[in-house]
Amino acid sequence: MEQLVKRLSTRSFANNLGRVFSILYRYGLGKRRFSRSVIQFMDLMERYQAKPTFPTTAVVLDKNPSLFQRLMKQGAVLAIHGLRHVDYTMMDRTQNASHFQEAMALFNKAGYPCEGFRFPYLRRDKHRIEWLAEAGFRWDSSEVILWENLSSRKCSRSRWKNFQTILETYQPMDSGSASLPRFIGEMVEIPVAMPDDDILIERLGIRKQEVLAAVWSRMLERACQTGECLVLQLHPERYFQFNRALETILRKAQSENVWIASLQEIAEWWIERDSVQFIIRESDSGIKEICLEGSSRATLLVKGTKGYTCDGPGNFTVQGTPWKFSGKEHPIVGIDPGCSQDITAWMRQEGYPYELMNHRQYSTVLLPSDEMKLKRDLSGDYSLPVQGPLMRIWRWPENRKCCLAVTGDIDGVTIWDFIRRYHE
Ligand SMILES: [Zn+2]
Repeated sequence: MEQLVKRLSTRSFANNLGRVFSILYRYGLGKRRFSRSVIQFMDLMERYQAKPTFPTTAVVLDKNPSLFQRLMKQGAVLAIHGLRHVDYTMMDRTQNASHFQEAMALFNKAGYPCEGFRFPYLRRDKHRIEWLAEAGFRWDSSEVILWENLSSRKCSRSRWKNFQTILETYQPMDSGSASLPRFIGEMVEIPVAMPDDDILIERLGIRKQEVLAAVWSRMLERACQTGECLVLQLHPERYFQFNRALETILRKAQSENVWIASLQEIAEWWIERDSVQFIIRESDSGIKEICLEGSSRATLLVKGTKGYTCDGPGNFTVQGTPWKFSGKEHPIVGIDPGCSQDITAWMRQEGYPYELMNHRQYSTVLLPSDEMKLKRDLSGDYSLPVQGPLMRIWRWPENRKCCLAVTGDIDGVTIWDFIRRYHE
């Protein structure tokens, strides 16, 4: 009940009343309406050979085995969205652990062992993410990045306030942060993008699909320019309110060499990419030969070499391996010992080979004064002056420009599941 009071308090009275009608409209009274929406959602994704990720509450999966079997047969990927739809930050470590275990057991029973998690209400903290790792999860997608700075001009003051309140509960990261997977210990955290369908349709009252398509298209354009990972959140029960907008995004993504992937595929790729190593061999005549080892899907990018045209992300050129060149410099970043320690984590995440500076001659040198500038560089297109060849491993497999994941939390299949969430 505490959950219900908390959720209701994020809305005005008129808003809450509207919400009741909207929920009735989306779910109807039985399972049929939801099933129709999610199956058509799946059909659309299949037409674009794209796999959506549906973070699902374990008790909902348990009660609806045939629907989920059908979705999985069509290529849907599931993640665990809690045992029940509760705020895990309100529960202690033991309760968290037992919920995680029970949820995993129900997914296993359904024949779908799961490695990924998304917290209900996107409410999480650093401890909860650590406890997920202890329970055996490999990835989470609950961090929030606000991609689009919306304008309050076109909606009422109460709607705007409503939007601000819900956004606050998500504790979004700074909108200047790059949206990329990152390691938290052994776990891969994949941030989810806002605004989602709930904010645009329910909170801000946008009904025109062209407006939704325009907002999400701008987000995809940013991803294409910067090479980021756009994780859309679209609740399947609202499918008929965003279907045409989603199709616009999928069509655009397909024509732009975007990697459309499930969260599971993204997490697996991030782990695979992290194991890739640069192998540098130097012959007596000074020719350096460079190969990547650890993944056949990794793309080697180079810059600062004469005679190449730049056709890769940023100012880099896509380079097949082995890559041969001669020159005195080492094509790696020499890090000044005065730099902070987390810059090395950033270098690794961005795929740059580096070492603490010693007597060698480097193509690029990183000084403490460069650090801040570097971290703000969303495109990861290393903007420091490069005196010689520099290489990196690109973020996405097979030189895809950026990444798009379509996700939709399944909190309930009937209106009763939806209401029951608040009593659990
Ligand atoms: Zn949810």
